[in-house]
Amino acid sequence: MMLRSDSIDRAEVEQKTIEEKAAKYREEQQKQLVKHKCKSCKGDGHKHVRCSMCDGTGSLFMYSCTTCKAKGYIIKYDEDCPDCGGEGYVWK
Ligand SMILES: [Zn+2]
Ligand SMILES: [Zn+2]
Repeated sequence: MMLRSDSIDRAEVEQKTIEEKAAKYREEQQKQLVKHKCKSCKGDGHKHVRCSMCDGTGSLFMYSCTTCKAKGYIIKYDEDCPDCGGEGYVWK
């Protein structure tokens, strides 16, 4: 009788531990599964390179840089963004 109740208690404790772990795991998963727009490509999934004409400032001698259309960066449409792998967003 003594042995039996002892093993039941242990089973309950183990069950609780599993549930707690599962809850924590789900929490962690939800934390990780937050979609963030990729900062490197601003969500378009293409590789952005700094404009060498205006050095990333977007303007050239007080005028808007025509090479990058005043963005300060050039979008490489044939290359995927290395930070998000071309997805345009990252999971964090
Ligand atoms: Zn990106
Ligand atoms: Zn430029």
